[in-house]
Amino acid sequence: MSAWKDAVMAALVYALLAAATISLSSEGREVAAIWPANAFLAALLLLRSRSGWPVLLGAGYLANVAANLVTRGDIQAPALFGLFNMAEVLIVALALASKDADSSAGDPGVVWRFALWAGFIAPAISAVLGGSTAAVSYGQSFAEAWRIWYVADALGLLICMPFFHALLSGEFARYLGTLAGRRGRESALVLSAVAAISIVLFWAVSLPIFFLIELPVLVATFRLGRSGAKVTVLLVALIGTAATAAGYGPIVAMSDDPATRAAVLQSFLAVIMLTGLPVAAILAAHRQLIARLSVSERSLRLLAAQSPVLLLHFDRQGLCSNAIGAAEPLLGAHAGALVGRSVEDVHPREGRRLRAALLEAEAEGRPIVVELPGLLPSAWIEAQICASRDSEGGFIGTVVALHDISVHRNRAQAMAKMAETDSLTGLLNRTGFMRRLDDQVTDDPGQPLALALIDIDRFKLVNDNYGHLVGDQVLREIGGIIMAEQAEGCIGARLGGDEFVLLFPAASIERAEAMCQRILRGVEMIRVDAGQDMIACPSISCGIAARQTGHRSGSIMLDADRALYHAKAEGRGCIRRAETESSMSLLASVV
Ligand code: GH3
Ligand code: MG
Repeated sequence: MSAWKDAVMAALVYALLAAATISLSSEGREVAAIWPANAFLAALLLLRSRSGWPVLLGAGYLANVAANLVTRGDIQAPALFGLFNMAEVLIVALALASKDADSSAGDPGVVWRFALWAGFIAPAISAVLGGSTAAVSYGQSFAEAWRIWYVADALGLLICMPFFHALLSGEFARYLGTLAGRRGRESALVLSAVAAISIVLFWAVSLPIFFLIELPVLVATFRLGRSGAKVTVLLVALIGTAATAAGYGPIVAMSDDPATRAAVLQSFLAVIMLTGLPVAAILAAHRQLIARLSVSERSLRLLAAQSPVLLLHFDRQGLCSNAIGAAEPLLGAHAGALVGRSVEDVHPREGRRLRAALLEAEAEGRPIVVELPGLLPSAWIEAQICASRDSEGGFIGTVVALHDISVHRNRAQAMAKMAETDSLTGLLNRTGFMRRLDDQVTDDPGQPLALALIDIDRFKLVNDNYGHLVGDQVLREIGGIIMAEQAEGCIGARLGGDEFVLLFPAASIERAEAMCQRILRGVEMIRVDAGQDMIACPSISCGIAARQTGHRSGSIMLDADRALYHAKAEGRGCIRRAETESSMSLLASVV
């Protein structure tokens, strides 16, 4: 619709509403007791862009003046009334335009903002201006004129704006379009009940029990949604107004004054509107939330069907309330079969650890990650555990996301092992050995501990005479003997080059020496294929040290190294023990 056609339509409707309400509710020279025209214009403004507002407000102003002129035959005061009315419409439109224009769209906050601006602030301001003008121009009391103006405009806006908005935005038309089948029958039934009860309460009885209409109106709000709620209030308004105007019903019985009757009827309608709209808004918000939740639930299930993750929800007691995803490969049971099981039943091998992690996630308020054994011996599962809380922070259960980390974990383990292994002999390398030595030294400082350093004698000659490959074979053979010795509880390693080491936890130096003797004899037996000949393996020298009180890893190694030096110096192919402090001091005293 072009802007000018819109303006003409606005002016015509405004003028009609204004003229009708002035002639119906005032005696020509007073402020009107019912005022729905501003509601129409404000609703229209909310549905149009701001650039169109000046033309619409101009049209509204002219219509206002015209209606006053026709009904009151006066131009001076109405020229100002028009300005005040347009100011009121502009305040409401400005206050609500940046927000959701539809006061029942699903945000109860919007309804309360609407009630504040349309029900209080805007009409109160325009009533001050209008009341003053009426007092000056028609000699009406300011307080009286302010009261009537305020009540008429506030109630007019509160009651009529949602209707006009729904009408102009096409919401009512869309609502009618949805009324097919069961929903249509239900709407017809509920609206008929509302109409029948309204007729009884406003027409047939004179007792002021019209508040009873609140019950069917609330039923309609719950059953028919926000558009249905507006239609319901419209129906009550039409029946109530018609009955009161025709001189029937409890409101007529209350007062002879048409202004008082109008105020009571409008107040009543405003109250049912202001209870119905927030309820409708809250319900709409809940329906939207449920719709969004069901969409995310469906998306989650689709995602879970494609992913190797298993999601488990445990309630406050630790019973599985929902299971989505790959349950069979991880836990050996179908997802559906896990529902209702306790934490301990879901993972029998490590159920207690899982339960402890659930309690920790609840207490700590942060996600907890634990690794659990899987179904197969080398399988591992990672469980990420998160406590769920309601909007008030109350604990309502736990979400556990499980996925298979076997490949990752086994690869990490293999890499860690590789980093500590000597690739030539398969023994530990220096890094791996030093870590174990440090652990032994710090873990149990009081325990006996012996260490043997082994170095091949004149190994360079093997390399020089037969080549590096033969040299490597010698290193492998000696490494094999040390490896076999590990069965006796010692830890062997190749420190580098032709140097090996053995750690004897909880062993005396005598026992360590005996084992080194065995290795020495074993090495003597080795024969290595050197191409044309089988050659004898070079001998080895060995230095042994036992831990002295307070010794750390470095000191034991140093002692053993000194002993090895002595073994080399004293002819090679032999074992020497490190000199203890007591023997050192004995030696010093002899010298
Ligand atoms: P000594 O009796 O004094 O120990 O004499 P040695 O010839 O064994 O001297 P030393 O222990 O210092 O020499 C170690 C040699 O080991 C030097 C190097 O050529 C050799 N070597 C070091 N790493 C490797 C290896 O991985 N493979 C081979 N084949 N030889 C190595
Ligand atoms: Mg050597």
